[in-house]
Amino acid sequence: MADQKSFENVRKVMVRQQLAGRNITDSRLLAVMEHIPRHLFVPEQYQPAAYDDGPLPIGCNQTISQPYIVALMTQLLRLTGDERVLEIGTGSGYQAAILSQLAAEVFTVERHEVLAENARSVLDGLGISNVKVLVMDGSAGLRAHAPYQAIIVTAAAPGVPRALAEQLSDGGRLVIPVGGEGQQRLELLVREGERFRRRQIVPVAFVPLRGERGWSEQDWETGLGLGEQLDGS
Ligand code: SAH
Repeated sequence: MADQKSFENVRKVMVRQQLAGRNITDSRLLAVMEHIPRHLFVPEQYQPAAYDDGPLPIGCNQTISQPYIVALMTQLLRLTGDERVLEIGTGSGYQAAILSQLAAEVFTVERHEVLAENARSVLDGLGISNVKVLVMDGSAGLRAHAPYQAIIVTAAAPGVPRALAEQLSDGGRLVIPVGGEGQQRLELLVREGERFRRRQIVPVAFVPLRGERGWSEQDWETGLGLGEQLDGS
């Protein structure tokens, strides 16, 4: 099971059954997910499960998302190759690696330094050079490099932080899980001038977004304390 060839085979099966077999139709995305070695982004003891249909622990109490969710969120961004993308929640770096092959450049931010360092070294090892990993609280975005044509948040937020949405360029797309433990939905926001078209996609289960515009420990557990919400426009 542990050799490269067998990883390649199970990766092909993953793409066919879990992605193309559901509603992932973007052929560039399918090709990239067939190419990027997901097993290198998980701790060694989980490598045999790297192409299973679920999330896996990556340390620091965090998880790498289910491959289907990575694909679904990426597909919603409709990347064509020339975008600047912001990801909040680097985690393992796997989602950033996928984005790096579909856009021009990726800024990804992570609050846990050890996760950021590990992600950086796996990305470097794969020769991926258009991803910048920053250690910081990304709950209010990364103003220094705004605007972004696409923003992806891979941790559940109490609401859509306005500061983050405002870092989208006109026509830009933001994908974000919103809600508390056990009651989240994936949302897509599309910027139209000063307005944001907003659509709910599917129920999801993410670890909490922390930091200034994220969940406090207490509110996450009680499900109370909604953060700043954009108007439902
Ligand atoms: N996209 C990741 C999975 C992320 S899990 C992957 O492909 O593996 C969510 C990550 O968001 C965790 O690593 C967590 O530490 C990080 N996170 C949570 N709140 C954050 C914040 N305010 N700023 C930056 N990172 C945050």
